[in-house]
Amino acid sequence: HPFGHGRYEHLSAAVISVIILYAGLTSLMESVKSIIYPETPEYTAVTFIVVGAAVVVKVILGLYVRRTGKACASDALVNSGTDALQDAIISASTLAAAILFLCFGWQLEAWLGVIISGFIIKAGIEMIRETISKLLGERADSDLSASIKATVCETEGVMGAYDLVMTSYGPDRWLASVHIAVPDVWTADKIDTVSRHISQQVYERHHVIVTAVGVYSHNTQNDEVITIREKITEAVLSEPFVLQVHGFFCDMTAKTVRFDVVVDFGVSDQQELLHTLQEKVKALYPDFTFCIQPDADVSD
Ligand SMILES: [Zn+2]
Repeated sequence: HPFGHGRYEHLSAAVISVIILYAGLTSLMESVKSIIYPETPEYTAVTFIVVGAAVVVKVILGLYVRRTGKACASDALVNSGTDALQDAIISASTLAAAILFLCFGWQLEAWLGVIISGFIIKAGIEMIRETISKLLGERADSDLSASIKATVCETEGVMGAYDLVMTSYGPDRWLASVHIAVPDVWTADKIDTVSRHISQQVYERHHVIVTAVGVYSHNTQNDEVITIREKITEAVLSEPFVLQVHGFFCDMTAKTVRFDVVVDFGVSDQQELLHTLQEKVKALYPDFTFCIQPDADVSD
């Protein structure tokens, strides 16, 4: 499993969330049972001291861990600090229920148990949902994909970065492939040098492994093509569900034009959209042959 070790972390999170859910359901059942068949609770001084001390320790620990987490910008520390504080609230409410019982004879512990179980079940369900979504593969964070594209575009001579596809194989582990537009006069040697440079830069700055760099040839030798490119791009972009046009290349001698369109996932019939686009561009330049490639909108 070459990419399984990172995903394994998601899998262990899935197992933990099922255990949390099970614990929540069990404690809900126990609480409901003791509401139906109430038992007189017995509290001793030791219970109060132990629970009271636990509350104090958890509050101090929770506040300290959370402050440290914020200071070093660690989400994991902030989360575990918040967990400790929530724990403290639960223990404190058990203590409050005991005091209320001793003072007024109210038996609130079982009802409190129902409320706490509800929170545990909710947390379990949320964690399962989050984990499943991550196991299935989420859309890459839009800041990350935008900054990777920026890094690629910074490379000298690169005229654009497109079709960034990012595959997750665990928390913060990504593989990426990207297409770049380069001047049509570049040699294989030049392209090789540039794509190696891109892979290296993206890994250094974002810790993302670039698996492939694809190339779009960009016309630089013919001014007439610029007008054709502008007119076709404008016509294609005016169609609904078309988000972007890229990879445009026009061969004036063979009279062929090729380009990609990024199509919104909301489109109902992609084939029909491509047909409409064909007719639109053919009407503008009847003696040209067009090759339109659809791309899915997989990253920002
Ligand atoms: Zn493309």
